[in-house]
Amino acid sequence: MAQEDIFKKLIAHCKEYGYVFQSSEIYDGLGAVYDYGQYGVELKNNIKKYWWDSMVMLNENVVGIDSAIFMHPTIWKASGHVDAFNDPLIDNKDSKKRYRADVLIEEQLAKIEDKISKELEKAKKRFGDAFDEKQFRETNQRVLENQKNWDNLHNRFAKALNDGNLDELRQIIVDEEIACPISGTRNWTDVRQFNLMFATEMGSTSDGALKVYLRPETAQGIFVNYLNVQKTGRMKIPFGIAQIGKAFRNEIVARQFIFRMREFEQMEMQFFVKPGTELDWFETWKNIRMKWHRSLGFGDDNYRFHVHEKLAHYANAAVDVEYKFPFGFKEVEGIHSRTDFDLSQHEKYSGKKIRYFDSEMNESYVPFVVETSIGVDRMFLQIMSASYCEEQLENDMRVVLKIPPVLAPVKLAVMPLVKKDGLPEIARRIIDELKFDFNCQYDEKDSIGKRYRRQDAIGTPFCVTVDTQTLDDNTITIRYRDTMKQERVTITEIGKIIRQQVSFKNLFANI
Ligand code: ATP
Repeated sequence: MAQEDIFKKLIAHCKEYGYVFQSSEIYDGLGAVYDYGQYGVELKNNIKKYWWDSMVMLNENVVGIDSAIFMHPTIWKASGHVDAFNDPLIDNKDSKKRYRADVLIEEQLAKIEDKISKELEKAKKRFGDAFDEKQFRETNQRVLENQKNWDNLHNRFAKALNDGNLDELRQIIVDEEIACPISGTRNWTDVRQFNLMFATEMGSTSDGALKVYLRPETAQGIFVNYLNVQKTGRMKIPFGIAQIGKAFRNEIVARQFIFRMREFEQMEMQFFVKPGTELDWFETWKNIRMKWHRSLGFGDDNYRFHVHEKLAHYANAAVDVEYKFPFGFKEVEGIHSRTDFDLSQHEKYSGKKIRYFDSEMNESYVPFVVETSIGVDRMFLQIMSASYCEEQLENDMRVVLKIPPVLAPVKLAVMPLVKKDGLPEIARRIIDELKFDFNCQYDEKDSIGKRYRRQDAIGTPFCVTVDTQTLDDNTITIRYRDTMKQERVTITEIGKIIRQQVSFKNLFANI
């Protein structure tokens, strides 16, 4: 099945099974804003726990905070967001649809990459074990030609972005003959800059209301609290501050479901280091973060690093962790070496000293910062994309979410085979015993087969069935979601079996 079709099915599945709903649906929705349902919120909480504990619990020198969404508006002037938090937009005059000019060009680059991958796939099949990818890349005419096109386009694009040359971005779109997917025409407007921050007013207008912004990133809440945390926590450099919270961006193009939202949640960690050591720390965090992603077991080849074409004005190194979504490799997380830009700017705009006194060096300096920044919602979509499976069985088809058990919303479903003979009571007793450790669900409706399918569809890793034999020997059948294997164990063993597989501790051991 085509990848786009799978993605459409995944979106429908998220709605049908209580994971994600369109916001304000009964009023026809609100663009790029979503609500999480009863299972969605559990998965989201588990993702946050995986991230928070891996940062704050596993690292003695990383602590957390929770700063407010509203902040003094001068913060956004100092950070550069008021003047430079822009995306280049372009409209198609026929369809009246709006696009991000940089994204149109990135998609064109991805198309060329696709052509190269297809050639490689074909050749791999043809040559089997004897296939030498390096040699093939160096000698195959079609690959060489596509690689040359890619290099030329990439260099031109990177230069246009770095020079902030909007006319050149438009010219690239024209020269590459990029057409609007809706109208099919190449009738484009000029490229303009668009600021992504949402503004609102604080205080009543008669008082002279203050224009404030909904934060477009959580990082600034960390920077302006750097001194508070360093002093009150007696933190010694290098140390990090972590935060999870909402961020808001008035995205120009909001497609691809929860991949790009106008209200979303970020998990950011700013790591403060001695000037001159930041690039080493950048490498260290790059590796830690990649391990964190790969530990979930979705296949190492589905992740890659992508080096930025254009460095943000504050960065001296930046890389994205990309995952192979059904719509191609896309960013899940950014790792940036932000220099001392933010703290220096806040020193300048606030007039307060924001320094660190290094007792070994006997001098004060403005620390440099390496940040790791990941979207909760994008991570959620990554996990759902990787977990969604349609499996053909002997006489049936099943849709199953193979979410890693440690992150699954419901860990255990307990089912009496029939609604009589005391079986429901035993099932309830099992839940009462285990509900303090795991999220459990009781299910007695429909045939056992239908109940298994329902639990597969929400990704429950374990189902336990109570039957008449249970009355005799206290054993139940435990059924495993991924293999569908069943085994007979005693009631007292269930907790141990599940605990082993849903333990964050075991997951952390891989990082
Ligand atoms: P993009 O290039 O996709 O617009 P970005 O490079 O601007 O993203 P960052 O500012 O580095 O993104 O934000 C860090 C992380 O926050 C991203 O890796 C992503 O996971 C998440 N994120 C950013 N914008 C959005 C959004 N509109 N919706 C959901 N998640 C987002």
